[in-house]
Amino acid sequence: MEAVRILECPQKPCDFQDSQEGSCPDHGIDLQETRPKARPRYAVSFPWSQIVDVRDGLEIGKATPAFRDRVDVKMYEFLSRRHARIFWGPDNKLYIEDLGSTNGTLVDGKRLEPGEPECIGPERNLSLSRSVPIELLELNEYGEPIPSGKGHLP
Ligand SMILES: [Zn+2]
Repeated sequence: MEAVRILECPQKPCDFQDSQEGSCPDHGIDLQETRPKARPRYAVSFPWSQIVDVRDGLEIGKATPAFRDRVDVKMYEFLSRRHARIFWGPDNKLYIEDLGSTNGTLVDGKRLEPGEPECIGPERNLSLSRSVPIELLELNEYGEPIPSGKGHLP
């Protein structure tokens, strides 16, 4: 069941709100247009046979919450403690950003500058350093990976 959302007129200052549909009588803005678009669901597949749901964003590294308790991650010497993060941009697209890692984050073979995020999708080749390839997987409504056509699911 979906919670009722109160939609607000984005024009400020304006306190017009509506729970359903309709336009702001003062500004003529269709409030349905301001509703956030549904995001696709993604997970990231790691070479140590771990798949992590991206949900609202994911920080990747030996010391980050999703990985710090895993013994098998510790042997990846080219992975930094805080290596990269994946996050949703304001355009509802997914981005990856290097967090100043020692060996870099690569998208399609090109090393990212720290602090300069790159828009990503399942068709891009992602790698943490040159030796730790990761794969972005789009998930279907059951949370199962949709084949990207690139192959190699763990
Ligand atoms: Zn308004």
